[in-house]
Amino acid sequence: MNIHEYQAKAVLKEFGVPVSRGVAVLKASDAGAAAKELGGPLWVVKSQIHAGGRGKGKFKEAEAGEKGGVRLAKSVKEVESFVAQMLGKTLVTAQTGPAGKQVNRIYLEEGANIAKEFYLSLLVDRSTSRVAFVVSTEGGMEIEEVAHHASDKIVTFSVDPVTGALPHHGRIVAKTLGLAGDLADQAEALTARLYAAFVAKDMAMLEINPLIVSAEGRLKCLDAKISFDANALYRHPEILALRDETEEDPKEIEASKHDLSYVALDGAIGCMVNGAGLAMATMDIIKLYGAEPANFLDVGGGATKDKVSAAFKIITADPQVKGILVNIFGGIMKCDVIAEGVIAAVKEVGLEVPLVVRLEGTNVDIGKKIIADSRLNVISADDLDDAAQKIVNAVGKA
Ligand code: GDP
Ligand code: MN
Repeated sequence: MNIHEYQAKAVLKEFGVPVSRGVAVLKASDAGAAAKELGGPLWVVKSQIHAGGRGKGKFKEAEAGEKGGVRLAKSVKEVESFVAQMLGKTLVTAQTGPAGKQVNRIYLEEGANIAKEFYLSLLVDRSTSRVAFVVSTEGGMEIEEVAHHASDKIVTFSVDPVTGALPHHGRIVAKTLGLAGDLADQAEALTARLYAAFVAKDMAMLEINPLIVSAEGRLKCLDAKISFDANALYRHPEILALRDETEEDPKEIEASKHDLSYVALDGAIGCMVNGAGLAMATMDIIKLYGAEPANFLDVGGGATKDKVSAAFKIITADPQVKGILVNIFGGIMKCDVIAEGVIAAVKEVGLEVPLVVRLEGTNVDIGKKIIADSRLNVISADDLDDAAQKIVNAVGKA
């Protein structure tokens, strides 16, 4: 689960991480008072969407100006006009896709005077099973770019969970960023605090870009992006309360209500599969035959007819889906349950795209009979390879 920048900064502040003072603004009429409260003389007006690249982003609406989703204001009047221009508008950044995202919240911050910009992030590194730090002097730009063009400017290290962050970790950060004296001490404290926050809140990723040295010689997090491990959210109701469903894919929200493992993707072939491994293999083979999956979906082992039907409805409701592949290996899951679920869903919402069904395993004969008796226009397939080729032929290559 992702949260907004202003929420992320509030979480980090609890752990003593240095951030700028700021006020979240939800209504344009509140902007003036918020600006006066912060005092100035420099303010940063920041669009809050769950995507990065806001500074270099552009609004779809001309009246919002071409200046991007993060703007510096030099007067209360300017703050008011920028907030009014941004709120309700659609911001398109390198991370939103061409459709962009509507800006419904603004974070107004006191403006910092930047002397240097760095990059710092923490993430769960699966290869070492530890929390890893990624540190670079090349702040402000996307780390993927840096990794591509100047990978020698990126330093990574991981932290032993038994000891937690130790002073030498802080010294690696300071050394990488070329900091000495008091700034090195600040880097050491920051390293320990970020690690503490990461572990305490079960984060999956914490990215500070840029981390800055201000003109006054203070290390400060000017941007903060956090995503949390969804499997640990039950331990953090205060984090769950920060969820902004308007930022999430409605299909994924619907899927989570039915306890389905569903991830929306960009392709044209909707997939309904049981088992994460088979779902991954199905996506791979669709790609192998030249098309792209519209989703990852694992209906799970003990799914009921209702759950299967809900899953099928989520797939058919996606306007991107031009064909559906049902690929079930019945083990715990029974093929007749899948067949019944699919037919129940089709009866309710209809079926306007080609459907290829491959069933194998427990109760496969009953499942196939249910589908045949339904007189649905189903293309049946014998194995995974055959199924993938049939759906790609029916839909066309990407
Ligand atoms: P992003 O574009 O979505 O990553 O948003 P950021 O929060 O990183 O802001 C974009 C850029 O705006 C930063 O890289 C900074 O260069 C600039 N910026 C943000 N806050 C301040 C500030 O307080 N003072 C100044 N001078 N620039 C800022
Ligand atoms: Mn940033």
